[in-house]
Amino acid sequence: AWLKVRDRLKSEVGEVEYGTWLRQIVLGPLEEDELTLFLPTRFLRDWVRSQYEERLKSLWRTEYPKVQHIELLVRRGTAENTSDTQQQPLSAESDSSTTDTPVVEAQTEVRSDLAVPLDPRFTFDSFVVGKPNEFAYACARRVAEKPSSPGFNPLFLYGGVGLGKTHLMHAIGSELTKTGNVSVAYMSAEKFMYRFIAAIRSQSTMEFKEQLRSVDVLMIDDLQFLIGKDNTQEEFFHTFNALVDAGRQIIVSADKSPSDLSGLEDRLRTRLGCGMVADIHATTFELRISILEAKAKASGTTVPAKVLEYLAHKITTNVRELEGALNRLIAHADLVGRPVTLDTTQDVLKDMLKAHDRRVTIEEIQRKVAEHWNIRLTDMSSARRARAVARPRQVAMFLAKQLTSRSLPEIGRKFGNRDHTTVMHAVNRVAELMEQDPSFAEDVELLRRMLEG
Ligand code: ADP
Ligand code: MG
Repeated sequence: AWLKVRDRLKSEVGEVEYGTWLRQIVLGPLEEDELTLFLPTRFLRDWVRSQYEERLKSLWRTEYPKVQHIELLVRRGTAENTSDTQQQPLSAESDSSTTDTPVVEAQTEVRSDLAVPLDPRFTFDSFVVGKPNEFAYACARRVAEKPSSPGFNPLFLYGGVGLGKTHLMHAIGSELTKTGNVSVAYMSAEKFMYRFIAAIRSQSTMEFKEQLRSVDVLMIDDLQFLIGKDNTQEEFFHTFNALVDAGRQIIVSADKSPSDLSGLEDRLRTRLGCGMVADIHATTFELRISILEAKAKASGTTVPAKVLEYLAHKITTNVRELEGALNRLIAHADLVGRPVTLDTTQDVLKDMLKAHDRRVTIEEIQRKVAEHWNIRLTDMSSARRARAVARPRQVAMFLAKQLTSRSLPEIGRKFGNRDHTTVMHAVNRVAELMEQDPSFAEDVELLRRMLEG
């Protein structure tokens, strides 16, 4: 039953939240209808009690009706035996106890704590601008130049994982602290919660609030993690209002737009949306290439264009992974003292790319091939016979035959209901051409590698 409850919890709150707060719960004894759960620190216990107790109770009741009550107790050393859980309770304790120190000291502590060091690599200069992020970039620049201008407060940046939200926030922060004595506080929404709860526990919420309200610019990253935490949302809302009313700049990031962030109180949603809302869109192939070029250049290692292209095709969702792959290649080349090539790339990134390999679909093949030769996806199934369109279409059929287990008639159907003999002809024709024309062969080969991994 415990395993079931844990899984349910995990899927409800998400891996991150589960990992931060709930993973350390250890099952205790069940007496009559009361189940004891242990947590390694008082801090964690209080937090779990305030945020998850009801949910835990009802999950238990559904999974195991014998349990009617839950008692949360502190027992040190109960953390599971992985090394990071050993660390966590410790840091949780020392973290929260900073707010237990006398007020004068606490002030400076909290203050310096609020000014989380900004990552010096995340600057405007190192941010590569392209269509998908130019608006967000322009907004960020504008706020860094002139904080609290009407219409730009709050600035709400949103977009998927690894698309540069944190980078832009740090860039704003660095720019502001570089140019003047502007006080900037940056923290993740989780940190915000954590601090807030620690402050409640040590009865220093007043100080915490005052600290927050004394900054010129407050940045809260990944607001989606604040969702559903009623009292922290409440606190954030008040802090937010106080700051905006006092003419301070607020910058918030999240993975969704204010209106799509479910679990957010309406009034907070409204306030978040009333400044500037900027979307960072998914990267395009062009932007990924530009980013890779910039990073390769900065590293001082020559990376062939084909390799960059390969990476930009293979890793499409997340700039962080794209960067990670490139760094690995460069490190490897450095280590073995040989230049980066397409072959070594595949070899070095095998594991990494495996994660991206789902089974290849015909749609995917069509998309990649169309992208490669710059034709419209619809032409994969259109009746047009111009060579510029017909050839890529043949290549896509060829690859569909090679990379999927579809039969010729099945493949034909996906290409505008063509006959299986047409597919057969395409397959033979491409094979022939590959023998005659090495550069064509190279193109097809590259596409095959990209699709297949
Ligand atoms: P997010 O906060 O949106 O999840 P990050 O800001 O942490 O993403 O970005 C992930 C990584 O990708 C960082 O190392 C960042 O420097 C890099 N990155 C993202 N977008 C760009 C860009 N447009 N130009 C350069 N680097 C970028
Ligand atoms: Mg981030």
